[in-house]
Amino acid sequence: NSLYNIDGWGAPYFSINESGNVIVRPHGTRTMDHQEIDLLKVVKKASDSKSTGGLDLRLPLIIRFPDVLKDRLECLQSAFNYAVKSQGYSSHFQGVYPVKCNQDRFVVEDIVKFGSSFRFGLEAGSKPELLMAMSCLCKGSSESLLICNGFKDAEYISLALIARKLSLNTVIVLEQEEELDSVIDISVKLGVRPVIGVRAKLRTKHSGHFGSTSGEKGKFGLTTTQILRVVKKLKQCGMLDCFQLLHFHIGSQIPSTSLLADGVGEAAQIYSELVRLGASMKVIDIGGGLGIDYDGSKSTNSDVSVGYTLEEYAMAVVQAVKFVCDRNSVNHPVICSESGRAIVSHHSILIFEAVSSSNYTVPTMSSYDVQHFIEQLPEDAHSDYLNLSQSAVRGEYDACLAYADQLKQTCVEKFKDGSMDIEQLAAIDGFCDLVAKAIGVSNPVSTYHVNLSVFTSIPDFWGIGQLFPILPIHRLDEFPTKKGILSDLTCDSDGKIDKFIGDKSSLPLHELEGENGMKYYLGMFLGGAYQEAMGGVHNLFGGPSVIRVSQSDGPFGFAVTRAVSGPSSSDVLRSMHHEPEMMFETLKHRIEEYVHEEGGSMIAGGIAQSFHNMPYLTATSSCCLTAASGGN
Ligand code: PLP
Repeated sequence: NSLYNIDGWGAPYFSINESGNVIVRPHGTRTMDHQEIDLLKVVKKASDSKSTGGLDLRLPLIIRFPDVLKDRLECLQSAFNYAVKSQGYSSHFQGVYPVKCNQDRFVVEDIVKFGSSFRFGLEAGSKPELLMAMSCLCKGSSESLLICNGFKDAEYISLALIARKLSLNTVIVLEQEEELDSVIDISVKLGVRPVIGVRAKLRTKHSGHFGSTSGEKGKFGLTTTQILRVVKKLKQCGMLDCFQLLHFHIGSQIPSTSLLADGVGEAAQIYSELVRLGASMKVIDIGGGLGIDYDGSKSTNSDVSVGYTLEEYAMAVVQAVKFVCDRNSVNHPVICSESGRAIVSHHSILIFEAVSSSNYTVPTMSSYDVQHFIEQLPEDAHSDYLNLSQSAVRGEYDACLAYADQLKQTCVEKFKDGSMDIEQLAAIDGFCDLVAKAIGVSNPVSTYHVNLSVFTSIPDFWGIGQLFPILPIHRLDEFPTKKGILSDLTCDSDGKIDKFIGDKSSLPLHELEGENGMKYYLGMFLGGAYQEAMGGVHNLFGGPSVIRVSQSDGPFGFAVTRAVSGPSSSDVLRSMHHEPEMMFETLKHRIEEYVHEEGGSMIAGGIAQSFHNMPYLTATSSCCLTAASGGN
């Protein structure tokens, strides 16, 4: 456990069992001992078409645990319920889920279903997100909030107003002052009384990576001057009663409760002032920012960690709102939060396979080889070699390495000008590696090639250096004797993972077993937020396959309740406006023209299959194309 700090970032959902496999406890702290799901068994089941409704699912694979989602939601709600009760707060907590964190249909539908008993709602930031939220909330509680954030045009505002007409508890949050005129005009035209909120630009600033949206110069929200103009205009139109919500968002991954309390306190003061000015304020919406401890360090000065628990977060919010409202003799508002990352991060795990490793092997050389090598050395490299040998004898290792480098450089120049052949160059490389090994500084980090695209599945690592816990999901009863970095399938040098939680530049890994050995599966954890929607199709690798897994009474203790194969090569080609059917026809004509011997139709069949398959590597060593062309 300690090698990967799984107890630090994974509790209470993830742990390691006696067989050395990662297990999932989907109900968190409420899980009994027998309610543990062995991830390796899930991966094996996913590749068994009997369990997936006939699908032959390929890796990479996202495994979703709806029970984890349910637990996260319930934990958030009970943390606030407890804080409300213990502080004598006279209103309640009613959260919303910002769908941008993961818009997957089943994630959003699950959240609406699991949260409907405590009026949990949704937040949308664009027109398609609003359409999704409107239709999903129809199945939830009518009191659940539908918060409309983001920049808005007339169509967005009309949709939000129609949602109110459909009896959805919709609030239009002004992100820009100019939106107000449209809201007033369109609501009059549609005959709908709007409920309006304002996003305030707070002075409290979050200094981490995710805080760039906060502070006076942040990208979003209204300044105090603009908020005052909104109040004035609504008053003039006889609509000040429509102004009911104050929203702010300091940024994601708020590092400490002191910063949180500072921001919430400032917002509660603005809220109180709006009450004083005559607005019918009811809700304070504290935005997102409830953080995730990705490395388990509980640190307050890192983007990948936070220094508080969910309970401490809720307590800090309730205390700060209560303190300010009591000071101003203002009724306690409903507290709404837009936590996204904290709700969905744990529920999905990305599984991928290491297919090969470039093991760092230092060539073995006999004294005969070394002698032979010296004879082959070009004249002007002799002095480098001599210096190297002398410093080795004297035990001056740094100098020794410097001379080895110099020797290499000289020989590379010789190779480039054609006076040295490729075997000689390889002999020099081998010799220098031998020297490095002899003095104990050889680089022991191997590169593990993984059947994955970092750009598609872990875009935040590439884009903003976000670290996620990654570890093998099995063989954890065996000491990992190697250190590795992960290199993906894309033809891009950025397509690698060479930084890991705990500030490490390599990951403890096991030796890959031979061809007939067991596959080596790795899991990327806590990636349920943002990664799926942000990932692209670099090199035309599409998204992973997805399964949903729930606890069941059967022999395995779980059942695959939904399985979807990842996008095929045709799907990703289509996303770039190619027409796979026409492409195939073109290739078929070419086959008819050029392949005269038998086997043309098998080649066509093989190409059709390649269009149909996922773009990732397949485990089998042959395919219908090699069969069709006689295996050559
Ligand atoms: N609300 C708003 C307005 C946001 O911009 C964001 C994310 O940036 C969120 C909520 C969700 O934040 P988090 O995922 O940190 O909870």
